[in-house]
Amino acid sequence: MQLIYLAYFFLIGLIFGSFFNVVGIRVPKGEPFGTERSHCPNCHHQLTWNELIPLFSYLFLKGRCRECRQPISSVYPFVELLTGLCFAYSYHHFGFHVELAFSILLISLLAVIMVADLHYMLIPDRILLFFLPVFIIYRVFVPLTPWWSSILGGLIGIFLLAAIIMVSKGGMGGGDMKLFGLLGIAIGYKGVLIAFFLATIYGSVISGILLALKVINRENPVPFGPFIAAGTITAFFFGDNLFGWYLATFF
Ligand SMILES: [Zn+2]
Repeated sequence: MQLIYLAYFFLIGLIFGSFFNVVGIRVPKGEPFGTERSHCPNCHHQLTWNELIPLFSYLFLKGRCRECRQPISSVYPFVELLTGLCFAYSYHHFGFHVELAFSILLISLLAVIMVADLHYMLIPDRILLFFLPVFIIYRVFVPLTPWWSSILGGLIGIFLLAAIIMVSKGGMGGGDMKLFGLLGIAIGYKGVLIAFFLATIYGSVISGILLALKVINRENPVPFGPFIAAGTITAFFFGDNLFGWYLATFF
């Protein structure tokens, strides 16, 4: 039974991931995301139902448009697979608990942010403004312990990033600051500190590797959104264990 639910959440995650791709690409451009059919960005060939199956269509088409043979961005299957895995893990971690719904919401936010940042190097306000009231209402009814953790988390997220933006002059921007404020409300003050810490570690390690492999160069900065997403997910699921381990190891 457990396995059926895991598979179920994985499949739902694949489908949602496919939707997050569309939202993350269209919302920053101010395009509607419900009405228009998806099409190839190169030749505008309208995708048929069998080209719209999450993950599998990409594999069957071997990553190329059926009409013009242009490569399809690997961001699509990546986000779909990741969302599927994170949804399944959420169920594994929480079971049918009230925090499972929150987990799904948080993953949704992070997936859309990641798509938008990978495509446009920006974190759209509209996405943050959509999730802000949702997270606040959720944390009023299902508070963290202690209850003020969300308030302190939101403040820390904003002020920590504001300080870093002032010191670093570039690299991180207002979008990152607003996002960390929102994440602080969602996962609390300890969570947001761990998320930030991990995001910078992931970011420097992966950027370092990509620089060494000459996949990227210093003129083209790497979007930070995917690392924020990875850091936040790690903090959300394993933050307490990591915090305990850290204290036990260093103090
Ligand atoms: Zn095409």
